[in-house]
Amino acid sequence: MIAGRALVQTTRHFFPALNAWLDRLPDTRVPEACTYSTRFLAWWGIALYLFQLGSRRQLDYELRDGGPQVLANLNRLAEAQQTTLPVHDTLDHFVGHVQLAGWERLRTRLVQRLLRRKALDAARLLGRPVLLIDATGLLCFHRRHCKHCLVQRHGKQALYLHHVLEAKLLGPGGVVVSLDSEFIENADAADAKGRSAEEVKQDCELKALHRLLPRIKKTYPQLGFVLALDNLYACGPVFALADQLNWSYVVTFKEGRTPAWWREFRALLPACPDNVLRRQWADGREQEFRWVNRLAYEDSERRLWEFNALECTERTAGGARQYFAWLTPLPVGRKTVEEVAQKGGRYRWKVENEGFNRQKNSGLNLEHVYSTDPEKWKAYYLLLQIAFILVQLVERGSLLRRLAAEAGRPVWKLFGSLKNVARRLLESVRFVAWEESWFDPGPAGELRIGLDSS
Ligand SMILES: [Zn+2]
Repeated sequence: MIAGRALVQTTRHFFPALNAWLDRLPDTRVPEACTYSTRFLAWWGIALYLFQLGSRRQLDYELRDGGPQVLANLNRLAEAQQTTLPVHDTLDHFVGHVQLAGWERLRTRLVQRLLRRKALDAARLLGRPVLLIDATGLLCFHRRHCKHCLVQRHGKQALYLHHVLEAKLLGPGGVVVSLDSEFIENADAADAKGRSAEEVKQDCELKALHRLLPRIKKTYPQLGFVLALDNLYACGPVFALADQLNWSYVVTFKEGRTPAWWREFRALLPACPDNVLRRQWADGREQEFRWVNRLAYEDSERRLWEFNALECTERTAGGARQYFAWLTPLPVGRKTVEEVAQKGGRYRWKVENEGFNRQKNSGLNLEHVYSTDPEKWKAYYLLLQIAFILVQLVERGSLLRRLAAEAGRPVWKLFGSLKNVARRLLESVRFVAWEESWFDPGPAGELRIGLDSS
């Protein structure tokens, strides 16, 4: 009951126009022969990830034949009047009729709406939204899957891969909202003057970053992002790109990539004994921040850069020690060091833990081949990212907590783990008749729903 109501009202609260957006997904009309409305099929696709079914076929088992309330509940969600439920192949057919740009446009609408509602603002760093940049592997085949696969040779064996570079907007309470995705893939070999795919220089994260960031600037020209970057990106071309876009960044600082620079940082630290801040936490954790201002660096193209470098040493009550260091052009001093380290640095881990790890190790099943079709699989990827925005708003939103409290139990007692939220949602859509009043956008819009920042 609670999970279903939280889903309905959270969705209506944040995105009252969602069904109208879903109607406009395809650029062309879905053929007349299809008896289902566009928005209903879009919800059928979202349901695959919202209820974390794990594979397309599960739509048939878990939803189509899954319970007495599925059709009525999905009809209410989609504001549709379908008389039957589709099969999973119908979804695949529909996905083939929606251009990738349609899904991208839908995601942009969701993100812009969250930005306008200031739903993610508590996670801003020195007033600026933080964009986590991270890449991951998606598909892996032993035979060539399409003409754009990345090729990795191991002796006589070859692997054919697809990777993606993601830009995720950091929100409070561990929420990470997919803002844009760039697929890392080789250009069409046929376009490369007759050279075979193997001869064409392979695409990589850095090249993809140079495509991704300028596109984000075009879509969100008014936002001055801070990029939270892995050590891989600690290089002149990336700093220059960020400067050109007028964005800032916090980059993980490690010895490996720039050893001389690292040694200089470590040597300068004792020379700045006042640049230290210690924090003692109630759980026994102890953090020590140290920093060096105006550390100079000359890149491979002999450009000169100057950064502030900071480190955080954390000791738990049990004695475990963790060490992190970062570089940034942002101001670093007593007032800002902690915020830069936490929001720009430590939260980077969120994209790995809450982002891709979660998407891979749950019913979202990120690495599952939802379609081998060279174009369709990307649509499923975007559909997953879109549904995951809704999933997180339900899980991390204060509405679920409030409904649980009204039922007399704290939310962790009611659900245990996040995995159970998805399972309860599935049970709810199958067996509970969702009340008409929940769907009313008026009352849902007036609810106060914040994201959990505990
Ligand atoms: Zn391929």
